[in-house]
Amino acid sequence: MTTLAPVETSAPFEGSAPTSPTDHLWLHFARMGSYVDKPVPTIERGEGAYLYDTDGRRYLDALSGLFVVQAGYGREDIVAAVAEQTRKLAYFPIWSYATPPAIELADRLAALAPGDLNKVFFTTGGSEAVETAWKLVKQYFKLIGKPGKTKVISRNVAYHGTTQGALSITGVAGFRAPFEPLVPGVTRVPNTDFYRAPDHLAEDEKQFGLWAANRFEEAILAEGPDTVAAVFVEPVQNAGGSFPPPPGYFDRLREICDAYDVLLVSDEVICAYGRLGTMFGADKFGYQPDIITSAKGLTSGYSALGAAIVSDRIYEPFSQGKVSFAHGYTFGGHPAACAAALANLDVFEREDLLGHVLRNEEPLRQTLEKLTDLPIVGDVRGNGFFWSVELVKDQAAKTPFTRDDCERVLRGFVAPAIYQAGVYCRADDRGQAVVQFAPPLICGQAEFDQIEAAMRSVLTDAWTKL
Ligand code: PLP
Repeated sequence: MTTLAPVETSAPFEGSAPTSPTDHLWLHFARMGSYVDKPVPTIERGEGAYLYDTDGRRYLDALSGLFVVQAGYGREDIVAAVAEQTRKLAYFPIWSYATPPAIELADRLAALAPGDLNKVFFTTGGSEAVETAWKLVKQYFKLIGKPGKTKVISRNVAYHGTTQGALSITGVAGFRAPFEPLVPGVTRVPNTDFYRAPDHLAEDEKQFGLWAANRFEEAILAEGPDTVAAVFVEPVQNAGGSFPPPPGYFDRLREICDAYDVLLVSDEVICAYGRLGTMFGADKFGYQPDIITSAKGLTSGYSALGAAIVSDRIYEPFSQGKVSFAHGYTFGGHPAACAAALANLDVFEREDLLGHVLRNEEPLRQTLEKLTDLPIVGDVRGNGFFWSVELVKDQAAKTPFTRDDCERVLRGFVAPAIYQAGVYCRADDRGQAVVQFAPPLICGQAEFDQIEAAMRSVLTDAWTKL
């Protein structure tokens, strides 16, 4: 593939000059400068858990695109549902009107969601769901006579999206810095990284969990309970590397939220829809959120859709008189996206994808844990089909990669080498250096072994480069 220098104009090429996607396509979260003299990997087709690039090379999709393609690629039944809906009604807004697929999907999500989470506000993706949830809780507290409650508490290194509100909640300082000043009123507390727990808690996961949950209480008291509206937490925190909650963590967090009338928003943009082997992440760990924010796996990627699923209690003041939630998105609850989600949930039921994940999460863990015999592997952690392998320079001392190691070895070698070995996954250094795996929910031992083999070979070479 030839790469041309970037062109300055949007005029079409004359003649037969080949173009690279980087001539005009601005990739998300990408250092565009690194593509000036090399081609962009270009994926053309998907089938089951496998991807094919424009040169016909095959890759195991060990990240489900971006934690999205739960049911796998090439599902004719979902495609047919989208086509049929598009033929019948290509588009209509849910601004004061409804469409049958939006009604049906909201009913279905309300029935599936835990407890009294019965109202569904559709968006087109995860950032919008998080943005929606923050605006919603602010208005909720105004409506019930507590207008001072506007602030949010989230966790260090957690990623909650890119729009200005969601980005303010995001705990990755490097992502926020270029866009400051952002929305004020967010405080951050420690996450549940037990591998790097403070020394006095390093032996007892339960105590560590209580300590981490209690940091929310500390923050609420420091800010003033009358000013704090909500906490935003993922069931398993993605950024930093799949941090599961320690035992008792969510029980204590729920208790704290109840004590100070602070709402618990479970940001399940990754963890919902089977990623952990349950429909929602809250189900896996047995807690009751006030709002669930979700997106990604809801449609398995066959269309773009997000949803904030809200409790009866929060909805109640919005149900009165002339009150409205003055918020929405033209494409939120798009009928074709709702049709895709309904067909996707049918696949979940027909093929028992949740049961499959629950039966296979332990084999996946055991397969990845084989890698701990390599000196570069510090920790293997996660839940369901959502795992991270943390890389270190010294296993016993848990010495983290330096910034230079991340640039040279993680980004410069590990990431491209795994891809060249035929496995698409994610090397991430938003916290410590990790490699992340979240395969489609149809994968089994053969795919787990393929991941392990590729990692073993690449990490063995990476060790010699440190
Ligand atoms: N919240 C969480 C937990 C996420 O993981 C993401 C995206 O990865 C988002 C929010 C933002 O979602 P989107 O990229 O669909 O806007």
